[in-house]
Order: sequence, then structure tokens, then C-alpha cells
Amino acid sequence: MSQARRIEEIASYHAHVYFEGAAQADAARRLRTRVAERFPVRLGTWWEKPVGPHDRSMFQIAFETGLFATLVPWLMLNHDGLSILVHPNTADQRRDHLADSIWIGARLPLDEAALPDHETAPEQAGEVNTAPSLQP
Ligand code: ZN
Repeated sequence: MSQARRIEEIASYHAHVYFEGAAQADAARRLRTRVAERFPVRLGTWWEKPVGPHDRSMFQIAFETGLFATLVPWLMLNHDGLSILVHPNTADQRRDHLADSIWIGARLPLDEAALPDHETAPEQAGEVNTAPSLQP
């Protein structure tokens, strides 16, 4: 039997917020603003095309592990019908995305070929680029 993995493997998390069409883009923009108002996170580029393993438009929320217990439940209550992929960042990006992730809303396909099949340095959350002023 293999050893249990330790949560210290997780350097940070990503939440990828997907959208398709004008109404979902509006909802995603509103969600992005609401997150920025409430959480010290790093908001990523607003992609209006598929990028990497993500098969539709999306933006990324990169966050420290200590934020998981507030940000993820807040997203559960406020995703407004959008699909959100929450995945850990360990040395195994492929496993992080395909096997060890959770979905809020409907699960979407991922482009497996775009994920590395070797270990990489675990991705850190990066510098916070929000200035929250509201309580979650
Ligand atoms: Zn990611």
C-alpha cells in the first residue's frame, strides 16, 4: 500500500472560472469583481479563448492554501451557474487537474494533451493583486 500523501505537497490552489457567451461573461466579470472586493488573491488574465488545458474562455484565481476554507465555500454560494475548477498545485499538474480537482457547477472537459506528463516545480500563488475591503 502506498504512503498517504501529505497536504504540504500543495503549494497553492487555482480556481478557474469558465464562461461562454455574453450572459456568462457578464456573470464572470461580476464574480471577478466580487472576489477582488473580498479576498487577497492573484487574479489572472481574462482569456476570451481556450488556453492550456482549458477548453473555453476563463480567468484564474490563484490563492494561498490558508484561504481555501473561506474562498471555496464562498464560490460554492456565489458561482451564479458558472463552472469553476478548483485544483491543488503540486509537482504533478496532470494529476492536480484531472484526478485531484473539485468542480463547482457543471464539470467541463479539459484538454489532457496540454498537461505535462512529468513533474514540475509546484506553482506558488504569486503576488496578491487585489485590495479587499469587504468581509466574505
Ligand atoms: Zn490552474
